[in-house]
Amino acid sequence: MNKIYDAIIIGAGFAGATVARQLADVGKSVLVIEKRNHIGGNAYDYYNSDGVLIHKYGPHIFHANNQKVFEFVRKYTDWYDYQHKVVANVHGKEMPVPFNLNSLYIAYDEEKAKRIEQKLIEAYGAEQKVTILELKKNTDPELKELAQYVYDNVFVYYTMKQWGKTPEEIDPNTTARVPVFISRDDRYFQDSFQGMPKDGYTKIFDNMLAHENIEVLTGVDALDKLTLDDGQILFEGEVFDGDVVYSGAVDYLFGNCYGSLPYRTLDFVFETFNKDYVQSHGTINYTVSEDYTRITEFKHMTGQVLQGKTTTCKEYSKSYSGAEDEIPYYAIINEENNALYQKYFEKAQQYKNLHLIGRLAEYKYYNMDAIIERALDLASKLCPEV
Ligand SMILES: Cc1cc2nc3c(=O)[nH]c(=O)nc-3n(C[C@H](O)[C@H](O)[C@H](O)COP(=O)(O)OP(=O)(O)OC[C@H]3O[C@@H](n4cnc5c(N)ncnc54)[C@H](O)[C@@H]3O)c2cc1C
Repeated sequence: MNKIYDAIIIGAGFAGATVARQLADVGKSVLVIEKRNHIGGNAYDYYNSDGVLIHKYGPHIFHANNQKVFEFVRKYTDWYDYQHKVVANVHGKEMPVPFNLNSLYIAYDEEKAKRIEQKLIEAYGAEQKVTILELKKNTDPELKELAQYVYDNVFVYYTMKQWGKTPEEIDPNTTARVPVFISRDDRYFQDSFQGMPKDGYTKIFDNMLAHENIEVLTGVDALDKLTLDDGQILFEGEVFDGDVVYSGAVDYLFGNCYGSLPYRTLDFVFETFNKDYVQSHGTINYTVSEDYTRITEFKHMTGQVLQGKTTTCKEYSKSYSGAEDEIPYYAIINEENNALYQKYFEKAQQYKNLHLIGRLAEYKYYNMDAIIERALDLASKLCPEV
């Protein structure tokens, strides 16, 4: 029986790396297998040939309310204080998103904006968030009009581009992620802790995985080493009865036996300019025009000091086809897809030492803080000494 490792972790993103480190810290020997030729999962960043620190899989901003999560990550990096602000480009005017009271005064003349501001505060309270869908249901004509304005100018076209659907076809939980904020606070997140890792995300993973009890294999598909067979997991042909933590796509794990889970993917187009900066904010959303959803300029976010060079990234959202060069980024949450996921989940339950975690294995959207929290919980469940 194979027992060289206490645990095998598949995927070196935040889910896998967090579990690996927690187990290693209490003396477990861990093998991490990562398909890509680098660690860090979708949070991976690197310096491009122009010397600009960029996020290969789209812009990542760390934000968290959970003290335990923050305490965990701060062990592996120092932080650069960054409060993310996003603006929407609406016919050439830039207004803060989520749409807030400052956006209101950009969208309308002062008198009307003032009136609407008072109505919003009366109806929902100051510093509250109300979703576009809730606002649409309000009977006040001016609030209804505002709902329509936000819907038309900030929400609908962006959402259609992002999901390739009409908003009515999208799960209300996803829609709820686009609120109107009755506040002057232009920050995109209000979490108590926000920031960017001082030396980049990849360095966090380097530090987390640098442990005598952790061995990392990159550029290896775990399914080339592991076989799932009738309730048993084989590692290199021998039964492995330690814990197997899987953070890859669950349909892939079972050879798509029930069919493929649908996803959205993204094309990233990076451009470097011989300038210090080319846009006003870290991220500009294109909510009424263009085929891309947003443009990010990394230097705003990373705080990198570099003169005469800056890199941006345009994001084009499209349906995931399963092609080799595509990456499944966003689960498409709806009843049908959840039911399909449930079948895979039940199949996974037949393997008592298999644990699914992460945005792909659980077919859910998780921010980094949320997935770290889940991974910390899973590690404690697997090993009470953690
Ligand atoms: C465009 C974009 C922007 C985002 N921005 C933010 C943000 O600003 N803030 C935030 O908090 N979160 C953000 N997120 C979410 C963040 O990326 C996730 O929370 C995080 O990636 C989840 O980590 P994970 O380990 O579950 O998945 P991943 O990071 O995807 O890691 C899974 C790893 O498993 C590997 N793997 C899969 N299958 C196999 C296999 N068979 N064998 C070996 N390895 C395998 C993959 O290669 C991958 O490296 C963003 C996500 C996207 C797509």
